[in-house]
Formats: sequence, structure tokens, C-alpha cells
Amino acid sequence: MPAEVAIPIACNKDCIGGCPLLAYVRDGRVTRIGNNRVGSPYMSGCAKGFQAVKTLYAPDRLTAPLLRTGPRCSGSFKQVSWPEALDLVAGQLADIKARYGAEAVMRLGGSGSCRGALHNTRSLASRFLAMFGGCTELTSGYSNGAALFVTPFVLGTFNAGIDAGTLQFSNLIILWGANISDCRLGSEMEARLLEAKRRGTPIIAIDPRRTATASHLGTQWIPVRPGTDSALMMAVLYVLITEDLVDAAFAARYSAGFDGLVQRILGGDGPDGVARTPAWAERICGTPAETIVALARQYGRAKPAALLPGLSIQRTIGGEDAIRMAIALQVATGNLGQPGGSSGAFAQGTLPPPRVGSIGVPVLAAQPAVPTYRWADAILGGQAGGYPSDIKAIYNVGGNYVSQGSDVHKNMRAFEQVEFSVCHDLFLTPTARYCDVVLPVSTSLERQDIIFTSGNYLLFSNRATKPLPGTRTDYAILAELAARLGFGRVHRRQRRGGLAAQLRGRLRNPRL
Ligand code: SF4
Repeated sequence: MPAEVAIPIACNKDCIGGCPLLAYVRDGRVTRIGNNRVGSPYMSGCAKGFQAVKTLYAPDRLTAPLLRTGPRCSGSFKQVSWPEALDLVAGQLADIKARYGAEAVMRLGGSGSCRGALHNTRSLASRFLAMFGGCTELTSGYSNGAALFVTPFVLGTFNAGIDAGTLQFSNLIILWGANISDCRLGSEMEARLLEAKRRGTPIIAIDPRRTATASHLGTQWIPVRPGTDSALMMAVLYVLITEDLVDAAFAARYSAGFDGLVQRILGGDGPDGVARTPAWAERICGTPAETIVALARQYGRAKPAALLPGLSIQRTIGGEDAIRMAIALQVATGNLGQPGGSSGAFAQGTLPPPRVGSIGVPVLAAQPAVPTYRWADAILGGQAGGYPSDIKAIYNVGGNYVSQGSDVHKNMRAFEQVEFSVCHDLFLTPTARYCDVVLPVSTSLERQDIIFTSGNYLLFSNRATKPLPGTRTDYAILAELAARLGFGRVHRRQRRGGLAAQLRGRLRNPRL
């Protein structure tokens, strides 16, 4: 029997935990995936990363390009050859551009493989479409739109995460809408929290649900109504202010405008003149006033305290306020920038990594763009509805936007309206069922890359096995389309160097 070898890989799922893993391979076939504790004994993957082998060999994985033959979403497709599919996609894109302009193509998706320096579903598609002549781009994302927008206004940067190792210095940890057991927030976070709990550090989980985190990692669970976190935070600050628990010297030295916030919380400077008392907050967030008072007292006296918010608190109307208030609380208690404290900003994915090159995206002047949350509205409304372009085609790479956006019926109508749609995917997802052409891609186990993680480290991910026959990388697909559309590497060599260069270019043309 052939020997089993362990090949270092990195999980590049969009949780951005950046877990170093090992793919165990026997006779060219991945048999299982496990932890690779190369960097720290605290680093560990989760079931999602370990199950990647099931995705790799899933019986319903796509292994041939599909062309739609029935009504959209009917699931009626026929298999076509790669040259036929690529010719068709290139022809449709060229036709749309000729009739309406490049901005009539909207780029969708991106988070499918978004951690690679090269195999990055967002950068690759954006680069391809920029070289195509532009497109209508999406800004921000479903995950962290409010946090991404508002954090730089408060801190001057979005790079304000935490090294989970510093939790060893914390006297109190508050997980605010952060379900670490399921969402992780980094490869080390869960293990560091467990260690802190065993050490006797109080860990308060504030969450509408008694999550696995609240049960297993937390020492106390405080329920709150969904979408009311900023009210609860304001009431906590009210108690800190009125019970003289604010680190006034710290706030004065390291922040601007804190006095104005104090006035607003006390009711003196607000539009309604209402003080943000625990009783006021209880009516909004359902958390008993006495629980709020106890929380604020414990928090105000437990320096250093780490407040770690998840992204859930900003996925609501006015979600920016919860992000701002969490940072303000860490300023008020003097915990920002302290070992064992935290910035109060989103606690993952935001430490500056080592510098390394990655696939570049040309910056186009005057490229139309719409917020991710508005993509379907932009298609349905067009310029008449105040959006920057009239969308006629969708190019979707690494995303399932029909079901990811909350208004699924609106998303379906948007896909129904366009003249042409194409996607790259592993499976016939709901979005793929709406597309005219579906191009089957390889998984991260079938290619090598450098992976950007949530921490201050990079990982190299080896190719654990050959791509499944019939699949190609996103890079290879887009390179072939670029060649057909006149801006590929082979095409440029043809123009520059004649036949010899053309042959050299073909020999080197990557099928990575
Ligand atoms: S925590 Fe995230 S990066 Fe780590 S194995 Fe799980 S899904 Fe992959």
C-alpha cells in the first residue's frame, strides 16, 4: 500500500481564520485533513476546514462547463466543451460591451476564495474586468459593510484587530455578538478563550441566543434583543459616567470629542434630551436594568478588559453606531491599546500582515460602483432609478448572491432581468441555476498559493492533489477569456514578438 504523506496547506475560507492544516494524501488522493500546529500550539482548524475533503470529492461537484437550455432556475443545462463555453462567454461579453459599454457588466461574488495572493476570486475577477475595459463594481461587502465604513472615521484605520495571545493579560473578556465557537475570529481565539476561562478570567457573552460560545466559553450569558446592541452600550456608558468609572485622563489624552459623547449619553446634548439610562435601555433591548448596571460596574473595575465584538452587531439598520460605541467604551475604560485590552473594533482580520505581493487590480478612473447591499436594486433600477449604469450582464466568481442577500425574490428578479450571466463555481448553486453559463472550478486543495490570514502571519498552501479532470482554476479561466478578448498574455506576446514569442507564450501559458 502506498505511504500516506502529510502536505502542509492553509484553509482559505472566508472566515479568514487562516488555519495551518495538513492534507493527508495517499496515492495522489486526499484522505483526510487535520491540524498543523506549526506556528503555535493554540492554532487549530474547525470542522469546516477539515471537511474540505468532502467538497473535493463530492459526487455533485461540477466537472464540465454547463450551458443553460431551459428557463432560468429550471436546472436544465447541457454539458459543453471548454473551448465552446469560453468562446461563448467571450462572445457575449464582447457583444454586451459593443452595444452598451463595459459598465453594463456587473461583477458579483468574491468571497469564495478571497484569501489567496493569486487565487483570489475577488481580485482576479476585478482585474479581468478592469482589463476588459471596466465594469460596474461592488463596494464593501455583505459581511462588514458598516464596520468597514465607520471604523476609519473613529480610529483612523480599519487595522485594529487583536493578537489573541494578549488575552492572557485580560482580567475580563466581553464577547459582544461574537460567536467564537462557530465563527472562530481567528485560528487561536477559541483556544485562548478556553485557557482564559480555565485560568478563572470572567468571560461574558452578550448575544440574543445562548450560543455554543455562551455555553462553553462564557462564564455568563447576557441576552439582548437583536439589533439593539448600541442602546445597551450607551446604558453601560451611562453607568460608567455616573458612577465615576470612566478613565477620564485616558479619554482626554487619547480621544477627541469624548465630552460631547458624555453630554449625549446624559441627555444634555441629544435631539431628544433623553438620558441613556439602564431603564431606558431595558425597554429597547430587553436586558434588565440591574443586569446592565452590574455589567458596567464589573467592566469598569476590571482593567484590563478586552471587548471583542463580532460582525453581527453591525448587520442592522444603523449598525455603524454599535461599532462606534464599542470603541468608545474601550476608550472610556482606558482599555484601548493596553495589553489584555482591545480597540473595541472588529477583532479579526485586521492586523497588518507581513508584506507580500499579490495579484494587482488596475485602478480605473470613473469606474461605476454600487454598494454590495444594493446590487439587485442597481440592476432592477438602472440609471432611471438613480444608479450609475444599466446592467445587462453579470459576471459572478466565487459567490452565491441569489441566496446570500436577504431579499431572495428580488435577487432572482435581478438575475431574470439581465441578458447574460456567467459564474464560476464548484456546484450548481441557486445562483448558478440562474446563469446562462456555469464554469467548473478547482478547489484550494488543487492549487498552490500564499494565504493572507487574520493574524500577523502568512501561510503557504501547497497543492495537495491534481485538479479534478474537467475543472480549471479561476485564474486559468480568466486568462483564456482574456486571450480571446484581446488582452491576454499570449495575445500581447503575439502582437509584440511574432510566431516564436507566440509559441513560447503558449508553452508557458499557465494551467495552475
Ligand atoms: S476556522 Fe476558518 S480558516 Fe480555520 S479551518 Fe475553520 S473555516 Fe478554515
